[in-house]
Amino acid sequence: MPQVFDTMPELVGSLDTDEDSLRWAARDYGDVVHHLPAAVLRPANAADIRTAVAFARQHGLRIVPRGQGHSTGGQAQALGGVVVDMNQLGAIHDVGPDSVVVDAGARWSDVLNATLPRGLTPPVLTDYLELTVGGTLSVGGLGGASHQHGAQTDNVIELEVITPEGALISCSPSENRDVFDAVRAGRGRNGIITRARLRLVPAPDTVRWHRLRYGTVAELLEDQQHLVVTDAFDYVEGQLKVRDGEDVAELEAVSFVETTSGSGDLDDLFFREVDSETADYWDFVNRLAAGEPVLRGAGLWDSPHPWCNLLVPGTAAPAVLHQIASELGPELYSDFGLALAYPVRTDRITTPLLALPDDDIVFLVAALRYAPAGAAETVKAMQLANDVLVASTLRAGGTLYLDPL
Ligand SMILES: Cc1cc2nc3c(=O)[nH]c(=O)nc-3n(C[C@H](O)[C@H](O)[C@H](O)COP(=O)(O)OP(=O)(O)OC[C@H]3O[C@@H](n4cnc5c(N)ncnc54)[C@H](O)[C@@H]3O)c2cc1C
Repeated sequence: MPQVFDTMPELVGSLDTDEDSLRWAARDYGDVVHHLPAAVLRPANAADIRTAVAFARQHGLRIVPRGQGHSTGGQAQALGGVVVDMNQLGAIHDVGPDSVVVDAGARWSDVLNATLPRGLTPPVLTDYLELTVGGTLSVGGLGGASHQHGAQTDNVIELEVITPEGALISCSPSENRDVFDAVRAGRGRNGIITRARLRLVPAPDTVRWHRLRYGTVAELLEDQQHLVVTDAFDYVEGQLKVRDGEDVAELEAVSFVETTSGSGDLDDLFFREVDSETADYWDFVNRLAAGEPVLRGAGLWDSPHPWCNLLVPGTAAPAVLHQIASELGPELYSDFGLALAYPVRTDRITTPLLALPDDDIVFLVAALRYAPAGAAETVKAMQLANDVLVASTLRAGGTLYLDPL
């Protein structure tokens, strides 16, 4: 144990400095940045975190919360400092008629497992549900329902936060508003979220799920913009990929059958083909779970993921997506990679730290690249391709999503 921790007050949980713990905290889903901390706090309660935050402040150490570690650029790492393993505190508390109280280390799948039996769901979910509530609230949390409901940070009623000074406080739009605004999308640097009261809405039992295939990227984008403006579907998300040597431009347009607010109307759209099915709501929102074993089997789950997440003004989206379409393929994405484009209406976003481009509709564009283990040159080529995308996005007035503050 480094000497600096000799005077750490007693904890109920543990402060771990063994090699396995430090290596765990120095690795994330990106597997590109590896910063070794000096210690990992495994808290038994919020009081342990308060103790560690106050101690770190006194000794000039960085202290950074970590959820599932699904960041791709070291956002949850603390070089020479203390990483707080928030997974230790993941309980689900009260499920009420329109909200649920959860510990920040709970995953969104845990939240749904508690709320769906009561016919309730958070209005916005990330595509992958094995991320922690604290982890996505500290970046924004955007999904296919963001064109209607904004980010996950816009659907939080109240938070319990440990401030950088070590105080435990409640905050909401009407109480300690400055803290509420600083921690939502605050990347864990303006306070540690320990508990959240999340808004819930009625969940449908089933969804009507359309996969629309397009001949051009321009048509795909035009339809996305149209569907966002007309509010015709509850979930809208575009994707570009190459499969079996063929370019695919696809739009998922989904109606929540019993609770839908839109028409679910496919008339007047530019798609060339459509596959439609009715699915259970849970099977739809949990659809990425099936991909994990496939990627593991291909050796691409625990390998580097130099991902690039951009917020692109609607006006610049055609150029950025054309650029992505021209580089798609095994070399810069592997056989499994793809690019996603989630349309977001900026008037639905109220989170001050979620820096959006100046446009009515913006796209979260995610270039999801998978490199095999031990292929440093491939990772470098992917990073260079990301640099090009970032430069053209910033030139067009776009911003970066998920980057460290
Ligand atoms: C497969 C996959 C799918 C994804 N899909 C989406 C998607 O659909 N939409 C989307 O918006 N994003 C998506 N993301 C990105 C994801 O939302 C972020 O990377 C998120 O931060 C990861 O959550 P985590 O629990 O792994 O957090 P970590 O990676 O552990 O931490 C991320 C950040 O949150 C901070 N943090 C963690 N816990 C707390 C806390 N309790 N209080 C304050 N700060 C905290 C950390 O310090 C760090 O800055 C996806 C990522 C992956 C790997």
